[in-house]
Amino acid sequence: MKHVQSLTCIRCGAEHAPRPDTCTCSQCGGLLEVVYDYASIRCSISRAILENRRDPSMWRYREFLPIAKESDPSGLRVGGSPLYKAVRLADHLGLAALYIKDDGINPTASLKDRPSAMAVVKAAEAGADTIACSSTGNAASSLAGNAAARGFKTYIFVPERAPKGKVAQLLMFGAQVVSVKGSYEDTFRLSAEAIQRWGWYNRNAAINPYLMEGKKTVSFEIAEQLNWQIPDYVAVSVGDGCTIAGVWKGFKDLYETGLIHKLPRLISVQAEGCCPINKAFSEGSSTLVPMEENTIADSIAVGVPRNFHKALRAIRESDGIAVNVSDGEILSAMQVLGKTCGVFGEPAGVTGTAGVIKALQLKLIPASASVVSLVTGNGLKDIAAAIRAAGAPICIEPDMGLLLQAFKARGVPF
Ligand SMILES: *Cc1c(COP(=O)(O)O)cnc(C)c1O
Ligand SMILES: [Zn+2]
Repeated sequence: MKHVQSLTCIRCGAEHAPRPDTCTCSQCGGLLEVVYDYASIRCSISRAILENRRDPSMWRYREFLPIAKESDPSGLRVGGSPLYKAVRLADHLGLAALYIKDDGINPTASLKDRPSAMAVVKAAEAGADTIACSSTGNAASSLAGNAAARGFKTYIFVPERAPKGKVAQLLMFGAQVVSVKGSYEDTFRLSAEAIQRWGWYNRNAAINPYLMEGKKTVSFEIAEQLNWQIPDYVAVSVGDGCTIAGVWKGFKDLYETGLIHKLPRLISVQAEGCCPINKAFSEGSSTLVPMEENTIADSIAVGVPRNFHKALRAIRESDGIAVNVSDGEILSAMQVLGKTCGVFGEPAGVTGTAGVIKALQLKLIPASASVVSLVTGNGLKDIAAAIRAAGAPICIEPDMGLLLQAFKARGVPF
């Protein structure tokens, strides 16, 4: 890892050697950040080198990732998700250019496969045999899947509210699942205690500094897929804040190494019923005020975001904007993405898109903008929410007369 300089504390600035199991700052307990030697990366990478690589997975960006030279990252195929030009949706919204990055196609159907794939490589480097995390659901199912593919045991803590699809994934991947009767915050605290007690490898969001490095690969892909033409805005749904911070780090890495010459502005999208990061941003505050976890978008129902400071810094540095959306707006974005793009996202998965729609309505972004919206999780994970968004099908006895009646009642034109 000669291109990794240190793990630097974002609170006190202390520098730590990048050991595979280093989590928080040993001096102040603050969160760490992987700092690179960009001059060294710059010498070993170019647009042409990247474009000629055949590996479509996130590991095609190895020079930018904090893994040991001899590490074998093989496992599930993570990354390489499609970026669709959403022409019909852009026209419908009156937006110059809109792209949908569908990360719901990852092996366990969410963007969380990127950090989880990183977690299993680092756990292997650390010589661990058991990995644990707490999660609203997707970090859990992705860890369980990626760990199963590499033969690790997993202990997973999820709040009782986690959608059934995600719990089914966990059980299918052989995780030891603890469903906690409490909030995500309660779940996180119990997992932290258990990890300390039994010494498992820690895949908790924000606490493990390597995870964000997996997340940032989504930005590398966007840049390559747009032929290095960086969009004006990138919209991200925000819970703990690791995704938006990772997205920002990815673009900054490319900028620092001279592969791109423009940075996008971030659109941080949260649910009205749980928006502590956006609230602080809008008030110009840097103090976290916890909120209730009151939204249908379970993956971003995070009352005490673990990556509050990095997320806030990312939005500010990018000269970004913050948009809050209601559950109704999230459900409506689910339907409109499905109908106009054929992309089926879970509620938190489409929250970024709901934010783009709202930002346009509020004139926070101009109609002339180019925008990438991340879809972070697949809709099949949470069927109950999908049915709320889409309504029920026609349900009748097998009879043509009844079919005609039903079509008439729904205004189908025959
Ligand atoms: C985890 C998650 C997010 C948000 O990521 P954070 O790092 O928690 O901000 C958004 N959408 C989905 C589907 C997720 O699983
Ligand atoms: Zn520190």
